[in-house]
Amino acid sequence: MVRLSRREFLQAGAAGAVVLSLGHLSCSDPTSSELPAAPGYSDWRDVYRERWRWDRVVRGTHTNVNCVSSCAWNLYVREGVVWREEQSAPYVASNASLPDWNPRGCQKGASCSDLMLGPTRIQYPMRRVGPRGGGRWKRISWDEALSEIANTTVDVLAARGGEGVLCELGPNVDYGPNTAAAMRFFGQIGAPITDSMAQIGDLAVGGTITLGTPHTDGTSDDWFRSDYLVLWAFNPAVTRIPDAHYVHEARYHGARVVCIAPDYNQSAIHSDFWISPRPGSDAALALAACQVVIEENLYQPDYLCEQTDLPFLVRTDTRRLLRESDVVAGGSDECFALWDEAGDRLYWAPGTAGSDEKTLELPRAVRPALELRREVVLASGQSAPVATAFSLLRERLDRELRPESASTITGISSDLIRRFARDFAGAGSALIISQWGSCKNYHSDLIQRSQILLASLTGNLGRVGGGWRSGAFVALDGMGLVAMQEQLDIAQLGLLMARSFLDKEGVRNQFEHMFVPSTIFHAVHGGLGELAGDAAQGDPALPDGAAPYLQHALQEGHFPIAPAPGEPSPDVLFSFCGNVLRHAPRGERIRDTLFKSARLVVTIDFRMSETGRQSDMILPAAGWYEKIGIKYIASFVPYITLGDRAVAPRGESKPEWELFSNLAEQIGQEATRRGIDEVRSFRGEPRRIANLGARFSDDGRFGPDAQEDVLSFILSVSSASSGVSLEDLRAEGGAIRISSLGPEGGTAGIYSDYETDEPVVPLRDFLEKKRPYPTLSGRQQFYIDHPWFLMLGEELPLHKDPPAGGGRPFTLTGGHTRWSVHAMWRDHALMLRLQRGEPVIFLNEDVARARGIADHDLVRVHNDVDSFEARAKLTGAIHPSQVHVYHAWEPYQFRTGKSHQAVSPSPLKVTQLVGDYGHLHWAYAHYEPNQVPRDTRVDVQKIEAMA
Ligand code: SF4
Repeated sequence: MVRLSRREFLQAGAAGAVVLSLGHLSCSDPTSSELPAAPGYSDWRDVYRERWRWDRVVRGTHTNVNCVSSCAWNLYVREGVVWREEQSAPYVASNASLPDWNPRGCQKGASCSDLMLGPTRIQYPMRRVGPRGGGRWKRISWDEALSEIANTTVDVLAARGGEGVLCELGPNVDYGPNTAAAMRFFGQIGAPITDSMAQIGDLAVGGTITLGTPHTDGTSDDWFRSDYLVLWAFNPAVTRIPDAHYVHEARYHGARVVCIAPDYNQSAIHSDFWISPRPGSDAALALAACQVVIEENLYQPDYLCEQTDLPFLVRTDTRRLLRESDVVAGGSDECFALWDEAGDRLYWAPGTAGSDEKTLELPRAVRPALELRREVVLASGQSAPVATAFSLLRERLDRELRPESASTITGISSDLIRRFARDFAGAGSALIISQWGSCKNYHSDLIQRSQILLASLTGNLGRVGGGWRSGAFVALDGMGLVAMQEQLDIAQLGLLMARSFLDKEGVRNQFEHMFVPSTIFHAVHGGLGELAGDAAQGDPALPDGAAPYLQHALQEGHFPIAPAPGEPSPDVLFSFCGNVLRHAPRGERIRDTLFKSARLVVTIDFRMSETGRQSDMILPAAGWYEKIGIKYIASFVPYITLGDRAVAPRGESKPEWELFSNLAEQIGQEATRRGIDEVRSFRGEPRRIANLGARFSDDGRFGPDAQEDVLSFILSVSSASSGVSLEDLRAEGGAIRISSLGPEGGTAGIYSDYETDEPVVPLRDFLEKKRPYPTLSGRQQFYIDHPWFLMLGEELPLHKDPPAGGGRPFTLTGGHTRWSVHAMWRDHALMLRLQRGEPVIFLNEDVARARGIADHDLVRVHNDVDSFEARAKLTGAIHPSQVHVYHAWEPYQFRTGKSHQAVSPSPLKVTQLVGDYGHLHWAYAHYEPNQVPRDTRVDVQKIEAMA
């Protein structure tokens, strides 16, 4: 045996460690057989010192990941490798009365340098060998890959126009050149892009119904100013790690924090109250609290009379809102009536869609009745009974949702419901934060409408530290991103930027030529419609299910998908910034229909995903530290954050701007060679594809390597980054506060002035400037009198049980995990070491033991739809009725190749198929049936004991 002194051991160990690490990480010359010389350490401290030597430090963040947190990091680069990250701290508090955002980050971000080098990283273009999904691949050159894709794409564009090609867009977008590249490319060839917001179950349709915008939010430092914070289906300790400190600081500052979740989650631990309703019963809880607020006169009548439709008159004979056309011959269908108690007369409310007065402000002499039942004389001379929406609401709540009734639905004691209601109403400001996780139930819209009602009755919407928040973004065109996406010449940019985003048709027109509604597209072309429309899966009040309503909506053109129903599905599919076969409930159906019939499926990604596995070709995208990009979002942190290029792309991977530039060049050459000049876009507009490369680059201004120029251009034309340059970002810690919120509307439902020394509070314009809301009534609209809402009894918010799904004993629930944003980290060894290392379901330990299931047993979760297998993790923190699966495991990580998404029928909700009612119509990220990846009923059986 060789004996080493301690010093020799340390030297040998340190040298070995460095050699091993370099062998793992170095990408400069992997074939070299020469080992680097051992560093000349003099003692063990030198080993430590070596770890802290860097060639340079670069500003970085995690761009194409759909993490909205936008954290600034310093990246430590040595010999062409990012060895580690460290949180940067460039953020300045909005003002001296508030805590700052520093530092921002999470464990996923801190391990990206390792993730980028992991075993599932794609480094070269690859073509499948053998059948799709067979897992056998051949490395090919970029020339081979691009010319094959260009040939097929030109074939298809020539034969079918843009509708023969589809970009399956996921949510992992950034706001810089890489996302702009894809948008610009598909815009220029006229191919549709899927609007994925509803497809991934992130569309807050209850926000659209009530406020006219699904996306409304402010900055997280406003949480600090709240007196009563309600984390409702929101688990910031896990899903908003960089911002969770504002909850704790608010509590330290005197706020009470309430966590409403069936499970005792990581945020409940830090709350004053944990309220644990049965899964899916949240609307009953919220409405019972509303009943208490109304019964005990804790509501704000003046606020309600001005800001909401609750004083509007409803005809109780038809259940329709009383319209001017009912009372005045030739009157408007979009003017609605108040009863003026002062003048004892009907008064046509200002600010409605049909009113010429664009204000919510009422004349001083007008005193609207909030509670009323009476008769009014119609244009026909007959009289009709009317009541205010508020009276109908009060009567319904008194009848159906007193705390005692809600207690039997929710499992929450009536005393606690009353206390919650009184505390909420009695707080100086009360804020419900209920974000994307709250969109994934069948009746999410009812839950959100009920939450907003509670915030509104108590006068909190539009107020500092109060209201209801669902998550918002800076408007896309405000970032110059849309300018780069557009197929228009960049010279026309000025015209584009001048378009009003407030105009409904403007919103539709702006994006209709680029996007198709994704849930509906997959219902029609992805094999999901049959089950989603099945009567057995949806609202039991619909004997024929949602299918006839989907048919009607399609026939009326409410969801303008392309190709149209009945036409062949696209021949060429691109998957970009997403992983549709993982994130779609029953993604295997999309695989067996849309993917199966396609001639060519191309995935662009930095790692192997489920969708990549089922593709014909994979093009390797550069990792986040290997390309330049930016992120910004007004929710949480109002900063532009730079993700600079720290190292060269690994292997032969390429930044997307370069990749799409080259593909555009190939397509342009191929089209020119074949003499094809112009094709039709999927909306029938002309698109010139000859010499596409020149159009893509704007005649060479933005060539394949001009990513910094593209980013500088985006910064220069975006109002949010006005006056900010790339050099500024580099010099100032990688993040600079935005200068404006950009144009409003779309994904930016903020509607407030912006001040750089104040937190962002959404919806202030409606309260402070008396601007009408972008709804039919011009107000927070709680009463929807569309026939389908009336048919289902959903004209006002109410509680409905989730669809039964076969009478199984458990409800499938989910949430984001602490160890992965989406699928990217799901197979990351460092993160897997912090969990069980494979997919697990969480079960209540008492319930599991009663069924003979022990911790880590293999179980089968099943219902009428399908089944999947996973290990059981037993915990007392889970509600007895829950089967809880954390987000984003890839199907291939499960033993049978089927994930928990396989058991979700994801029924279409009929009220979300409405497309012809004021503000309820499809537009990009506005209104469409959400996919419902949770909320189905399941049963659990043990398969085998823990090995
Ligand atoms: Fe921040 Fe998101 Fe990166 Fe984590 S993954 S460090 S939260 S940007």
